[in-house]
Amino acid sequence: MLFLSAMLPTLDPELRRALAARIRYYNEMGIYDFYRRPPSDRAVEIAAAPIAVDEEGIAVLQQTFVTGVEMSPRKATAVAVSRAVEENIFEVIALKPEQSVSDPVEALKIIREDLGDCTRCVLHKQGRKQIVFGVGNPKAELMFVGEGPGADEDAQGEPFVGRAGQLLNNMIKAMGIEREQVYIANIVKCRPPGNRTPEREECATCSPFLMRQIAVVKPKVIVALGAVAAKTLLAMSASMMQLRGRFYEFRPAGIRMNDRSNEPRWDGCKLAVIYHPAFLLRDPRQKGEAWKDLQMVMKELGMKAPKQNT
Ligand code: SF4
Repeated sequence: MLFLSAMLPTLDPELRRALAARIRYYNEMGIYDFYRRPPSDRAVEIAAAPIAVDEEGIAVLQQTFVTGVEMSPRKATAVAVSRAVEENIFEVIALKPEQSVSDPVEALKIIREDLGDCTRCVLHKQGRKQIVFGVGNPKAELMFVGEGPGADEDAQGEPFVGRAGQLLNNMIKAMGIEREQVYIANIVKCRPPGNRTPEREECATCSPFLMRQIAVVKPKVIVALGAVAAKTLLAMSASMMQLRGRFYEFRPAGIRMNDRSNEPRWDGCKLAVIYHPAFLLRDPRQKGEAWKDLQMVMKELGMKAPKQNT
């Protein structure tokens, strides 16, 4: 984002606001990838579906994003549209407190302390027993992200410990690893009443903490369990049929990366979407499809194919 910061003084505030609103609008439509056409072609191609933008938009988009023929705008946009900087989309994102420590256990503790006895969204007053932060290996290569805690998780303070959790454990075992080797968390950390789906606002309020956890763990692959996790992490709206079966490039929104020169670079990771274990319990016929997705993840991680299925 250096080039972005460098250009800030040259942008008219009105123009910046207009561009910010436009990018947000595209993101809400599930559009992240911006490509540049040659200057002779006065249009901007956005993702798979070309969308016309006005001259002002074109000029700014070109100034803002272009450093070469094609860029990796998901990263740029993910930072630019972070809800953490909603007030000023081009503000330089500050380092999080945990980014000053190198020990991931300590760093996760800092995030948990920052969360405190959270009352940031309505879920705090809708019957939660406790906040379910996340569990597992703080240096995990593989991270699973679900939707939110259920009754068992709320009671025990740990994600995926009920029936769906048991199935997730079996899936992890089938991959040839143990639950303790991965990191598991949810989009929202408090149980939605009656196990309802978390509202968009609740996901938006809680997920910045998850983004920070991801940035600490620095996994190689994230597996989003179900549509809510997938849509929140990818900030896009699509059906599970459309979302699963492929990898996405993922970078946690609102996080300034690679500021510590003594640490290995981490520029984000791959993200795969699979069916939520609770859905698989309701429709076991889909287990085969979930297994295919997990095999894709295993291949990416260089894991050995296990001998038997879940
Ligand atoms: S769900 Fe997240 S944001 Fe909402 S109260 Fe719980 S911890 Fe806070």
